Amino acid sequence: MPNTPENYTLARNKSFCNFCPGYCCYRLPGSTLYLHAEDINRIARHFGVSDGEIRNRYLENKNTFKTREDGSCILLANDRMCKRCTVHEARPTQCREFPYNNPCPYLENPGLLEMIHPRIEQGLAVAGDEGR
Ligand code: SF4
Ligand code: SF4
Repeated sequence: MPNTPENYTLARNKSFCNFCPGYCCYRLPGSTLYLHAEDINRIARHFGVSDGEIRNRYLENKNTFKTREDGSCILLANDRMCKRCTVHEARPTQCREFPYNNPCPYLENPGLLEMIHPRIEQGLAVAGDEGR
């Protein structure tokens, strides 16, 4: 079978997400993680706090999460290698559905990886230094 994007079943069926550091958890220019009220409520129930508390702690404006300087989602544990989404069971709909049954663009486009990979390395290096 030819190795074409149509055949990237690992990237398409999300199995690859289990082995990925979460490239899509970093904000890029022009991209927004859009949160619905149900997403905020699900995360509030996950933490056992009110929706307002989640909005105060984690939201930037009305409908997206804050990000760190490196663009990582505030809920991403960028200091460890695996299980990086700290609200995985309660993650927002957009996070669940991305890349919408298409091949993952981060695995298709070396330019995207080049932008994000150094940020991942940097986060892990800082965590390593702090652990010394
Ligand atoms: S959608 Fe792509 S970038 Fe995001 S976790 Fe899955 S494989 Fe990684
Ligand atoms: S909520 Fe979790 S999956 Fe969604 S962007 Fe943040 S860290 Fe990534």
